[in-house]
Amino acid sequence: MQITHVEAIPVRIKRDEAYLGALPPEADREAYFLRPPYRALYSAYFETAFVKISTEDGVVGWGEALAPVAPEVVQQIIEQLLAPALIGRSPLDVNVLWNVMYDLMRERGYYGGFMLDAISACDIALWDLCGKMLGQPVYQLLGGAFRERVPCYVSGLPRPTAAGRVELAQTYTAQGFDAFKLAAGHGVRADAKSVGALRDALGDETTLLLDAHWVYALDEAVQLGHALTDLGAGFFEAPINPEDVESHAQLAAAVAVPIAHGETERTRYQFRPWLMQKAADILQPDVGRAGISEVFKIAIMAEAFNVKMAPHLSVGLGICIAATIQVAAAIPNLYLLEYQPPVFDIANALLESPLVCRDGCYEIPYGAGLGVALDEDRLRHLQA
Ligand code: MG
Repeated sequence: MQITHVEAIPVRIKRDEAYLGALPPEADREAYFLRPPYRALYSAYFETAFVKISTEDGVVGWGEALAPVAPEVVQQIIEQLLAPALIGRSPLDVNVLWNVMYDLMRERGYYGGFMLDAISACDIALWDLCGKMLGQPVYQLLGGAFRERVPCYVSGLPRPTAAGRVELAQTYTAQGFDAFKLAAGHGVRADAKSVGALRDALGDETTLLLDAHWVYALDEAVQLGHALTDLGAGFFEAPINPEDVESHAQLAAAVAVPIAHGETERTRYQFRPWLMQKAADILQPDVGRAGISEVFKIAIMAEAFNVKMAPHLSVGLGICIAATIQVAAAIPNLYLLEYQPPVFDIANALLESPLVCRDGCYEIPYGAGLGVALDEDRLRHLQA
């Protein structure tokens, strides 16, 4: 069964509450903005890029790239560069097709960034097609599920005060969630204090995680790493600039708290030095940047190093979330999956039947392919 059509659909959805707290006044404008101390550009909208791949028999597979800004870039790469390589091929060649797409621009140095985001969207759509053609969920095609539900942590706690964060966390503990990640990076003492306040309020059994958004130098990260060890934190994410594998290796050797890294990386080649140099204890690829194929391969490679996986899941919507749950179910070395409740609600509003996350776990969608159906009419209304 041959692929006949590949269409990319960039989407922009107005958002009410941001992951990092209230939006600054300039967020009312269309332009992207900065949120110091973080250095990345942010959008006032949920932005993402879907891809729809159809076969001659009318079977449709959906993919999605993580595209928090400029989703039109992913659209252009898919439609101009990747689509011609996919049309006429069978979706069942998904692994071969990943390599075909990767090789198109490899020798020109495009083996990361937007190029891989676009490849990942197509890879997810190809897996969705494979599942629909064979009548099986993707986790089954990957060799089966290691678990009946996928455990997760609540990510963000976007409140400006310690008391507010505790209060928000308690609304989730009342619903059966027992793991939380703080978006931090506000200084070693402030970050340790924020985690300490949650530890005091929530008790020793709660899993507490910290994301430092790459703001620290090695000496600061070592200090905070010791504090997080004392507080019994589950991991210390993104402590140092993401290119600096060597400093992460020194940090991981110096502190007991597990070091987590990976939302910036996209392929097994990019994760290889992190494993070889023992620079990370937990890997966090995003399925919207690495696709189902690479996240699965990265997980298997990590398992050989006794390293666990905590896939990143941020502003990807329903296709991205379903794809992540599918691959998280099928890897042996899962630690926890990320869960952002406000994004989840937006994502579900675009699905014909909602994904479910309750009592601290995602339920695995059991339908064929990704197990979810997009409301295409709604999606078309939101097309950028
Ligand atoms: Mg992060």
